[in-house]
Amino acid sequence: MIPEHAPRSMPETQPAGSAGPAATARCPEDRLGLIVGDRVCAACGFNLHGQTIVREPHYAMLLVRCPECGRAAAVQEYPLLGRWANRWAAIIALAWLAVVLGAGVGTIAAMWGATIGSARYASFRLGARIAERQREFLLEQEAKARQTLENATPGSVVGAPPLNRNNAWVLQQEPGPEAWIEEKWWKSQDGAALVAELGGPFAALDPAAVRLVVPLALLGLAIGIVWSCLLPHVPRRRCGLVVLPLGTLAGLLYALVPDPDSSRGMSQAADVAASVIGRAGGWPAMGWIAMSAAAGSLVGRPIVRLALRLLLPPRLRASFGILWSCDGLPMPRPALGPRR
Ligand SMILES: [Zn+2]
Repeated sequence: MIPEHAPRSMPETQPAGSAGPAATARCPEDRLGLIVGDRVCAACGFNLHGQTIVREPHYAMLLVRCPECGRAAAVQEYPLLGRWANRWAAIIALAWLAVVLGAGVGTIAAMWGATIGSARYASFRLGARIAERQREFLLEQEAKARQTLENATPGSVVGAPPLNRNNAWVLQQEPGPEAWIEEKWWKSQDGAALVAELGGPFAALDPAAVRLVVPLALLGLAIGIVWSCLLPHVPRRRCGLVVLPLGTLAGLLYALVPDPDSSRGMSQAADVAASVIGRAGGWPAMGWIAMSAAAGSLVGRPIVRLALRLLLPPRLRASFGILWSCDGLPMPRPALGPRR
């Protein structure tokens, strides 16, 4: 409470935040406090958060003057809804907690999933090589079988055809990272030697995976932006720290949860390749998502504020006043651009 009794000649039309000692010294109205919550000017929709509550001298009514349009708004407190007001507040707080926890689970799942997907994509080069190797092997077997048949003399017993129906089907498919690999065959192969042939696990990564830089950055930015708005009580520069525990959990899941077993003895070449390269393809992707998320948490609130100003009319925007007050900013003006 800052009581002031000095006379004042002009009606109060000061812009928000400029009511310095010089302006207040001439105010005949008692200054009783500040608006703490979100309250909208009835005339122009400006959010009166942070404005001074005064007692006007004539009727001794409490009011707030809108710094944008000068309209006085009565500070009328309606009777509360009995006990239910507090109950609703608790229910809403619980719902909000559920939203934040859900966002945590969603962030971990998104980082984990994107990392697995990136590792698979980065295995395309090795996968194509494996599919090619399988094709060579089967063609060789087929040629051998033909040779046996040709060499057979009439009356001699020829063993069962070495190519079963499955092999024929495997041969029919287009070789490439998406081709199906027979696991029985793959177990007879030396995966590590194949990786060494390509120059080690990191050198074996598909250079085309660089294309993932943009979508992974967008995912990270989205994560950061969401968290910067979910935690308005956390200073902007510290919001990025929330990525640390979430990213660590996602990293643990990625490191410890084994790949799902394939069914029917067949796996796609890219998945086989990913299991050979190990986790090499995923870690750079996860690091990049985490860095993008930290960047997103820094720029998140300014971006969301800009979007709200552009997309929402002042009255609706006022509900998001906390996104301004949390960074110590004055409430957004009703109109974009120069002040009327
Ligand atoms: Zn107004």
